[in-house]
Amino acid sequence: MSNLETRRIELKEQIRLEGKRLKEKKRKLQKKIKDIKRYVKNLEAFYTEFNQVTTSKHLTEIVTKGQLNTKVRPSFFKMSKYFVEKEIIQRINKTKREIFECQSEIEKTEEQQKNVKLCPDCHGAGQFKEVNYEREDGLIHPSVKFLKCLVCNGKGIIE
Ligand SMILES: [Zn+2]
Repeated sequence: MSNLETRRIELKEQIRLEGKRLKEKKRKLQKKIKDIKRYVKNLEAFYTEFNQVTTSKHLTEIVTKGQLNTKVRPSFFKMSKYFVEKEIIQRINKTKREIFECQSEIEKTEEQQKNVKLCPDCHGAGQFKEVNYEREDGLIHPSVKFLKCLVCNGKGIIE
């Protein structure tokens, strides 16, 4: 087998693995967003209930009920209502930022997915530019030649 063929086979395998990795990464990010969205919803529901609390018994009840899906522990409520409220709002905002970060990470991954097959030798151009300088009548003339990329056979992508 020629070196070129060996290299093509290696590249194809690399591309296959990278494609798989990116697909899995995207899937995980989508799942993470789903989980975070559920968490925000729980926090918001909790916050609504929290605002309707009139007695400390009622407060303990909703914290106990909500602690599993809101990660709000009863120890929280040793603080003043003002701080609890601040904490809940901060958590909601923080998780919303996380969603935003996941979404931009997904966009980045999709961009990488688009470019995964690009030939690493010519970076997708399919050819190389070769400039030679020739002397003629005391002047220097550049001559440009385009050489086909042999790795991708001029296609710019590895298939
Ligand atoms: Zn190439």
